[in-house]
Order: sequence, then C-alpha cells, then structure tokens
Amino acid sequence: MIQTITDIYLPRQAKVEQIVVENSQISTFVLAFSDQQFNEAFRYQPGQFMMVSMPHCGEAPISISSTPTRPGTIHLSVRRAGHLTAAMHELKPGDTIGLRGPFGRPFPMEQLRNQDLLFVAGGIGLAPLRAVINACLDQRERFGSLTVLYGSRTPSDIAFQADHAQWRQQGVTCRLTVDAAEAGWDGPVGLVTGLLDGLTPELNRSIALICGPPLMFRAVLNRLSAMGFSDEQVLTTMERHMKCGVGVCRHCHMDGKLACVDGPVFSLAELRHLKIMELAD
Ligand SMILES: Cc1cc2nc3c(=O)[nH]c(=O)nc-3n(C[C@H](O)[C@H](O)[C@H](O)COP(=O)(O)OP(=O)(O)OC[C@H]3O[C@@H](n4cnc5c(N)ncnc54)[C@H](O)[C@@H]3O)c2cc1C
Repeated sequence: MIQTITDIYLPRQAKVEQIVVENSQISTFVLAFSDQQFNEAFRYQPGQFMMVSMPHCGEAPISISSTPTRPGTIHLSVRRAGHLTAAMHELKPGDTIGLRGPFGRPFPMEQLRNQDLLFVAGGIGLAPLRAVINACLDQRERFGSLTVLYGSRTPSDIAFQADHAQWRQQGVTCRLTVDAAEAGWDGPVGLVTGLLDGLTPELNRSIALICGPPLMFRAVLNRLSAMGFSDEQVLTTMERHMKCGVGVCRHCHMDGKLACVDGPVFSLAELRHLKIMELAD
C-alpha cells in the first residue's frame, strides 16, 4: 500500500463494529475503516500503534491488540485514563472515530521464530502482547512453547478473560495472579514476578516479552536477568506521551531515542543505553 506524505497526518474514519467489555476500566473496540477498499488493503504488524482521535478530545497512541493474521478489523483495547479514552468508553457500535497509522517499530517476529516465548504483562499491558500471542497461534509451527503470565489488581480486574480461555484451549500455559483476592478466587495472590517461580526456561531458545506499569516492569526485568535471560532476549514496548506519532514533535524523546519511531518496541539491550533505565539496576 502506498501512503502519500499527507496521509500520516490525516485521520481516517473508522466505524465501531463491536465493543468487548474486558473489565470496568478496559474495553476492546473492534473497528473497520469506513472506506472499504482502504480497510481491505490495511496492513500492520504486532507491536505497532494507531493514533486515535475523536472531535474535541485530542489524539492518543493506542496499540493494536488484534493480529494481522486475522485481517478485516482492527482491535484497540483501551483503558480509561483521561479525556479521549473516557470519551471512547461512551462509544456505541455504529459510532465513528479517527485513526492514523499504523506507526512504530513492531515486534521482530522473525527473531521470535523457533523460540519459546514468555509473555509477562500487567493490566492493559497485555494489549500489545495479545497481538503477538494470536499471531503465534495462527502460525503455530513457527514458534516454540508459549507461556503467558498476567497480573491484575483484583480478580474482577482480570481483562482479556475470553482470550485466556481460548489460549489455554490452544495449549498456551496461562498463569494469572492478583494483588488482592476476592471471594471465590483460589489462584495466586501477589506480584506477577511470583509467577516466574518454578519456571525453568531453556535459555538457549527463549525470549521474554514484557509490558506493564513501570514498577512491575522493573521488577520483572531484574528477575529475568537473575534467571539468566540476556538483555537481547528481553523485549518490551515503551509507553511515552506523544503528540504526532511520526517522529516530528519529539514529545516522546528518551535520551536520543524517539518512542514513536525508534520504538515502541525495544530490546532491554537497547534500553540499557538510556538514562530511564538507571533505576532498574
Ligand atoms: C505506543 C503507545 C501505545 C499505547 N497503547 C495503549 C493501549 O493499547 N491501550 C491504552 O489504554 N493505552 C495505551 N497507551 C496509553 C495512552 O496513549 C495514554 O493513556 C493516553 O494519554 C490516553 O489519552 P487520554 O486523552 O485519554 O488521557 P490524557 O488526557 O492524555 O491523560 C492520561 C494521563 O496522562 C497524564 N498526562 C497527560 N498528558 C501528559 C504529558 N504530556 N506528560 C505527562 N503526563 C501527561 C494525565 O494527567 C493523565 O493522568 C499507549 C501509549 C503509547 C505511547
């Protein structure tokens, strides 16, 4: 597909086809571009994001949580955070929003080939990893074992429940933990790092993909390093406030790197060169 230079700044109208309520704060919006021809030609890769806009609400980057192996619609899983995302949660099927993209450096799917993949996420952090997990399941023979470790605040906050059930059926090892239990929960309680206990990954053929809030992120990084993962074997997506999404405004600048075009996917080896990582040591 050929994009003209103006296309990158021009939101295209997309219709809400379906809304899946994941929990009280997160919903997944299933979208299709109103221009059917554009919709059919639209391509993206796991880890990329869209700039989403609504009238009078501004614009925000949102990871694509669907997989390119299932074309026709794009899924955006959105946590209520501020002006735009709160307005999105008022949307109904049939309403429209603006979309620019796809933008950003995706996950290196070729590098993941034949590897055992360990996904570690907290909260909305599972959204970009969901794209990778489903892409792996759709090309199952290309990848080794798949393990998903997911942390939520409480059992009622566990998002993507239908995905966890589906993934388990398809042979993915899924482990869930919560910060605080509620009646009826008999699973683990504690940080997602606790789910790494007892895992014995084959380090010569493993890659970890992590995404979640900063505290979880740092704890998991330190734990993976202690388990023997090298910095090249750990991939993550970085969330930074950004305005343009295409490397012009430099709002998402991080010590010489731009989250929007150099990322949002980075290896830990790449992040080690940035000042933001000093606290992780
Ligand atoms: C690559 C990428 C992918 C993302 N993917 C997802 C996703 O899949 N799902 C999802 O729900 N979210 C995602 N986010 C986060 C999302 O873009 C932000 O939460 C966004 O700010 C929401 O827009 P809003 O208008 O609703 O909230 P905002 O009005 O932007 O406010 C959200 C919060 O950020 C603070 N804030 C606003 N502007 C700034 C600023 N300039 N500097 C510091 N703090 C500020 C506000 O005070 C508030 O606490 C992603 C972010 C990036 C960079």
